[in-house]
Amino acid sequence: MSRKIAVLGATGSVGKSTLDLLEGRTGGKDGLFRVVLISAHRRGKELYAAGTKFQVPHLAWTGLPNSPSDFSVGGSYSPRIHLGAQGLLEALEESDPDLVLNAITGAAGLEASAWTLEQGKDLLLANKESLVVAGPLLRRLADQSGSQILPVDSEHAAIHQCLFGQAGEGKIREGLKKVYLTASGGPFWDASPQVMERARPEDALKHPTWSMGPRISIGSATMMNKAFEILEAHHLFGLREEQIEVLVHRQSIVHSMVEFVDGSLLAQLGVPDMRFPILYCLGFPERLRYEKSGFNLASFSSLSFEPSDFDRFPALRLAKECLRLGGDSGAVLNAADEVATQAFLEGRISFPGILKTVEKILKKHKTTPIQSIAQVLETDRQTREKTCQSLVSV
Ligand code: NAD
Ligand code: MG
Repeated sequence: MSRKIAVLGATGSVGKSTLDLLEGRTGGKDGLFRVVLISAHRRGKELYAAGTKFQVPHLAWTGLPNSPSDFSVGGSYSPRIHLGAQGLLEALEESDPDLVLNAITGAAGLEASAWTLEQGKDLLLANKESLVVAGPLLRRLADQSGSQILPVDSEHAAIHQCLFGQAGEGKIREGLKKVYLTASGGPFWDASPQVMERARPEDALKHPTWSMGPRISIGSATMMNKAFEILEAHHLFGLREEQIEVLVHRQSIVHSMVEFVDGSLLAQLGVPDMRFPILYCLGFPERLRYEKSGFNLASFSSLSFEPSDFDRFPALRLAKECLRLGGDSGAVLNAADEVATQAFLEGRISFPGILKTVEKILKKHKTTPIQSIAQVLETDRQTREKTCQSLVSV
């Protein structure tokens, strides 16, 4: 029986890699999957082309709530088209997937994650922002419905692989000492403060090892992406602050490591290509064959590890602060960073201005416990407004 899958954010970097992997695994009586819904924010033509290729019955186009003129409707393919953010939720209801791969960028992915977990479906989660902004709520929804959250993020997929197969669930907690999240260090790891001050968007977007969408690429340069991953690890694996350490590993071959109480360390290795963690999540608990796999460790003469630098990359410190504060602080961290990152990409603030802005917003915020998704969305909206008015342009 093929499993019905929804791929959200299908025109992005992770979304396209997912569709690549699904090619040859869908359709016919032997197909493992049936793509029942794909979504995109813009690029309607690309969405429509992917819909045609996989004969997807539901397309959700969130960016433009009117007139889908990009959809050259004609021929035999006639999908149901859902418009706007509300349309995405309707499309999820109507297409009724068994699993949802959420590769939307930013807090905009939250409602789809919440819907998936509420419905007891499995969530293949690339959209780490969902956990950053509403981790405890999503955890609760998953525990109530029995949904699994399978992390697509390479570091967390690595930790999942190191933990799975160890002694039963309960025992893992007792046996686990800490995790080491690896970080490439991004394009400015060795850069002087002067270079960072003058950095243009095109410099910051040049990631040394991974090819990704713009927001996460800037997040790798500021290390806000790794900051989010600290919070993501906390919510996914129930880890305390002192159990999460960031190690800078420039080669991006070791995707993360787990240390156990007996002193053993397990690491997961592979080339830096998101197809591998995506495939792991698609197949879990089985392993799916992949003809493009193949990894020559002998071609790496050395693998290096260095401690992270909380002074030059204050994002890591802010993540730990949010972990301690809890409540809606993660939603504030994310919203301020989304707005500041966009301002930098549009040339309105400098590169160091991103973190200065986020720090300023977080400092002024009074943390409130979160009770509902609606409340998180309201915090997100208010923080965006405040951040737009308080951009630090240094
Ligand atoms: P991307 O910018 O390449 O693609 C984002 C996708 O989301 C696009 O399909 C876009 O149309 C859609 N989208 C954008 N704004 C939206 C909105 N407001 N509402 C609904 N849909 C919207 O991003 P990406 O690099 O593929 O990253 C996607 C997610 O995966 C992010 O949460 C990111 O942190 C995470 N992630 C990415 C990578 C990577 O290698 N790219 C690795 C780990 C985790
Ligand atoms: Mg990652």
